[in-house]
Amino acid sequence: MGELGPKLRAALEGVPASKPRSSAGVPAEAAAEAPGEQRLRQSQSQPVYKLSANENPYPPLPGVIERAVAGAQGINRYPDLWCGELTRELAARFDVPEAHIATGTGSVGVTQQLLQITAQPGDEVLYAWRSFEAYPVLTRIVGARPVEVPLAAGEVHDLDAMAAAVTGRTRLIFVCNPNNPTGTIVRRAELERFLDRVPSDVLVVLDEAYIEFVADEDFPDGIEVYRDRPNVCVLRTFSKAYGLAGMRVGFAFAHEPVAAALRKTAVPFGVTQFAQDAAVASLRAEAGMRERVEALTAERRRVSAALAEQGWALEPSHANFVWLRTGERTDDFAALCEREGILVRAFSGEGARVSLGEPAANDRFLYVAERFRKELPGR
Ligand SMILES: *Cc1c(COP(=O)(O)O)cnc(C)c1O
Repeated sequence: MGELGPKLRAALEGVPASKPRSSAGVPAEAAAEAPGEQRLRQSQSQPVYKLSANENPYPPLPGVIERAVAGAQGINRYPDLWCGELTRELAARFDVPEAHIATGTGSVGVTQQLLQITAQPGDEVLYAWRSFEAYPVLTRIVGARPVEVPLAAGEVHDLDAMAAAVTGRTRLIFVCNPNNPTGTIVRRAELERFLDRVPSDVLVVLDEAYIEFVADEDFPDGIEVYRDRPNVCVLRTFSKAYGLAGMRVGFAFAHEPVAAALRKTAVPFGVTQFAQDAAVASLRAEAGMRERVEALTAERRRVSAALAEQGWALEPSHANFVWLRTGERTDDFAALCEREGILVRAFSGEGARVSLGEPAANDRFLYVAERFRKELPGR
């Protein structure tokens, strides 16, 4: 008796166990040494740049720390359950009714809620692949079946194939725009055409974690798209352009039934008062956010041009990272990067995603990328 242990849900067997190495790819020791530091110390002499999690290399926006710290006196109390002030700020800033807004513990938290409100065991959840790593994990946790549609040439969503893959069991579709990790986008006309083909009882989530970094004129702003489409939900985050990854606050815009269902499934008091206050202060520091985004997109142009010069074949990135198709040599590439003090996100056998950091970090990455091409020429 008791030897078998508690019965756990079979669905969890398909979910990878977390390793001592954090999901961000930082060795546990380095993460413990300097949690949250963009520039980690590997040894006395060599800086380690964490370019593996698409974090913002800049400190929180002006006024954010002051506002968050001012709330510290109140941590004996629970936070505002409904994120009231943040919801009002978001409604005003994005011209969306408050009833259309749901918040969560990062947009990954909201993603989990999106699965909880739509998918049961036996249902299908559709998305392009490769895309955001949370989709398959969270889909499996609810017991639904991931349906992954390979990216088309040019590392873009194959929306025709995705529309064709919709079945009577499809409950949720993710369109990651720009796509993590490839940095490619779906443009307005093709998105509208796709949405016209999706049955109205299937929820389509436009995951726009990187929208602030997009400069393309044909990029569809999800807020315009969702307004007259009750089965479309827009997912956004404070983690990337706003630089609040450590605070865990994300939000969704959707028509009332979906937004209300998301609020039902939120972890009660999950978004701390620090996070709510920091998010409000960040929204009020929009000009500062724009400056940082400008700096990072300037670095994106510089780094992309330098990589092309080195001979790398790149698809243009619309986000705060670049994607290198290193294929079979991905592990070698990641290992060389690590030896040289650059942490990247490697997908074995496929490619490496490298976040844009501050100029010194990007310079270091460019140096390693060039060395890699020279030392390990293509087969
Ligand atoms: C980084 C990222 C998020 C943001 O996650 P948070 O939980 O808000 O930190 C969401 N979607 C994609 C595609 C991302 O890359």
